Amino acid sequence: MPRRRIPFNTLLPTHRLLAEEIQVAVDRVLASANYILGPELEAFETRFATYLGVRHAVGVASGTDAIELALRAAGVGEGAEVITVSHTAVATVCAIERAGATPVLVEIDPLAYTIDVSAVEAAITPRTAAIVPVHLYGRACDMTALQAIAKRHGLVLLEDCAQAHGASHRGRKVGTFGELAAFSFYPTKNLGAYGDAGAVVTDDDRLAERLRRLRNYGQTERHKYVEPGFNSRLDEMQAAILSVRLDHLDEHNRVRQELAGIYCETTHGVALPAIDRSDGHVFHLFVIRHPRRDGMREWLERHDVETAIHYPIPVHLAPAYSHLGVAAGSLPTTERCTREIISLPMYIGLTHDDVRRVGSLVTQAAEELAAC
Ligand SMILES: *Cc1c(COP(=O)(O)O)cnc(C)c1O
Repeated sequence: MPRRRIPFNTLLPTHRLLAEEIQVAVDRVLASANYILGPELEAFETRFATYLGVRHAVGVASGTDAIELALRAAGVGEGAEVITVSHTAVATVCAIERAGATPVLVEIDPLAYTIDVSAVEAAITPRTAAIVPVHLYGRACDMTALQAIAKRHGLVLLEDCAQAHGASHRGRKVGTFGELAAFSFYPTKNLGAYGDAGAVVTDDDRLAERLRRLRNYGQTERHKYVEPGFNSRLDEMQAAILSVRLDHLDEHNRVRQELAGIYCETTHGVALPAIDRSDGHVFHLFVIRHPRRDGMREWLERHDVETAIHYPIPVHLAPAYSHLGVAAGSLPTTERCTREIISLPMYIGLTHDDVRRVGSLVTQAAEELAAC
């Protein structure tokens, strides 16, 4: 029997599992003839806020918009510096610039792959207005330390939760530590829509109110424009679909954790994700590290296992961000991780046998690469 190729990712199994429920939700929206800013969005916002344990969730058009509008709502713009990492999806940095602020890119912890707390302290200047920690791969940043720094220096703490729906730090969900938190519901995220969508969450009534008007042309009510705004709304169809998906989020995160556990048991000869027992990692991605990364990827590809790299070029080395003036070599940990990381298949529908096969192939590849 020919070996089945294991894709890096596919959304089809999740869709098949939920197809009937999704169809009901979509039909309900179609029949309502109400497609923007209606009851489906309100229902999803309430449910998502309740799920996290925050007062407000404000649906917007994407995760990138969520970060930009969160900064704008908090008054972080022209002339302000915002500390974040270079080792992230480019969207984090893109959104900070769109808000008018200057991204200040700092190092990551080489084991956690998330923001290095001591690097944050060192990067603070009189112009620093905010910190944007990214819970990369589904693993929470050290929010206890970051909250203390933000408080001590009077900085806005905005969590980028795009890869960490349902993840926790010391038993408390990410998205509840910052004054604001941004979520993306891009289809491949742990909580994914069937198109673009995002949300900002906060406990602050005034920030929530400002976000609601910023996303809708700066209106407090129809034709009452109190400040220049944007068009960034989470539509009714996506909201209805997200309510269905939210019901299954914890169950799907548990599946990811189970698959990660099997990877850890069957994969040897590489650096595995560092798992802190007190933290709830939700494995948006399962990322390993090996010094001969490219050789390992080719070997896996020859054995019908597709892999990916998140991310192959740190933001500071991308041509689009040369104006930030962060020279090659100045973030050595980030640059080294970038050369050594591999994302293994991780999704709902990947079987335990698939994971065991990938784990033993990675182990074999590590042995062969060590021998030659
Ligand atoms: C996906 C992602 C974003 C952006 O979300 P979009 O919905 O694609 O705009 C931001 N930050 C991180 C870390 C992401 O993974």
